[in-house]
Amino acid sequence: QERHMSPDEIIALKANYFYPNTMHFYKKPPHIVKGKMQYLYDQVGKQYTDFFAGVTVLNCGHSNPDILKAVHAQLELLQHTSIIYLTQPMVELAKALSEVLPGDIKSTFFCNSGTEANEGALLLARMHTGKKGFIAFEGGLHGRSHLTMSVTGIPMWRIDPFLEPDVYFARCFTQVGMTSEAACELALKDVEEILEAHSTEIAALIVEPIQGNGGMNTPAGDFFIKLEKLLKKHDVLLIVDEVQTGFARTGSYFAIEQFGVVPDIITYAKALGNGIPIGAFSAKPEVALSFNKPSASTLGGNPVSATAGLAVLDYIKAHNLCKRTTLLGAILKDGLETLKSKHSLIKEIRGMGLMLGAVLDIDSGATVDLILEEMKKRGFIIGKNGLYRNVLAFQPPLVIEEIDIKLMLDALDETLSFLPTA
Ligand code: PMP
Repeated sequence: QERHMSPDEIIALKANYFYPNTMHFYKKPPHIVKGKMQYLYDQVGKQYTDFFAGVTVLNCGHSNPDILKAVHAQLELLQHTSIIYLTQPMVELAKALSEVLPGDIKSTFFCNSGTEANEGALLLARMHTGKKGFIAFEGGLHGRSHLTMSVTGIPMWRIDPFLEPDVYFARCFTQVGMTSEAACELALKDVEEILEAHSTEIAALIVEPIQGNGGMNTPAGDFFIKLEKLLKKHDVLLIVDEVQTGFARTGSYFAIEQFGVVPDIITYAKALGNGIPIGAFSAKPEVALSFNKPSASTLGGNPVSATAGLAVLDYIKAHNLCKRTTLLGAILKDGLETLKSKHSLIKEIRGMGLMLGAVLDIDSGATVDLILEEMKKRGFIIGKNGLYRNVLAFQPPLVIEEIDIKLMLDALDETLSFLPTA
């Protein structure tokens, strides 16, 4: 039996050998040593029910045996050759994806992360349109690289001192204390004004269908139809970032399906690998034709990641995870709404499927940390996000059971009841 380090030992090593910016949740984070479907275990064997899924990665659960079996078999056979030789899993995965991607989206480029997927999508938009600029939304998060950070609309994640100048931000489509219809009108008005002033410079608009890190911000039902109309009028492409919302998370393979539009380019990563690194961007045929210069990712499309992707798609289908997410998401949402009516600290419940947020007061950052700490003590890992770090995030593995949801809601109810009042 391997000796597990204490959380303090790990924190000390991070302080010595990582850059000084390393971040973690909790004053004393658990040292997680094992995962099993919807459960995590720390260094002393304490069990936690995971309501964060490693930021929407483990949709099919931690160490899912079916996915592990497929990945193990591939690892034994062949790990990697590079994309310039022929291997089978990558083409099988691209074909399987085309069957679940929206509309006639068909061509795919594989890479290794969400950042890379978005960087590729932005590049493709520039190659296709011959234009340089982008529109993005406040509250959006698209990655850590130069371009993807430049289109990220959350101040704390915009750390490059020399961000791209040709990016125009529209207000977020969700605003505290405003109906989603009213907030969407403001966001669309901003997009229209930007398009009218700059359309000859703008290649694409990039948007998350539900902003994850921004705080589960969810637009009104007709938002994307109206947005698409505006973009079409000005010949500007729509890039939808499904890195967080993809693969049954919201009750459909991709969240954008529920908003009635087909994006020109769609990006995804995280949950496709269920913990094995993978990312990709896929495009409509007429746009895909423009990605016509040599480009290769060393590990993009490697047999192991591609096999994981295939096993994930099989698992989602075999276990009807879209339907399951819709059913369990409704139960979780109902429960959170009940807690909202009981605890005035909760202002709003947002999100879709098993991607839900409980919005607290804007200046409740310290309270959010206390809630996370108390929930951890009770054996539940929940997340936090939002522009003001004031949103409790609930995005469990989609294999969670109804009883796990009930027990988590009870623990949250108890936690909120015993919070010290300000
Ligand atoms: N887009 C979205 C919507 C994300 O949530 C994230 C990461 N949280 C990214 C892009 C970047 O993905 P990665 O960390 O895999 O580069």
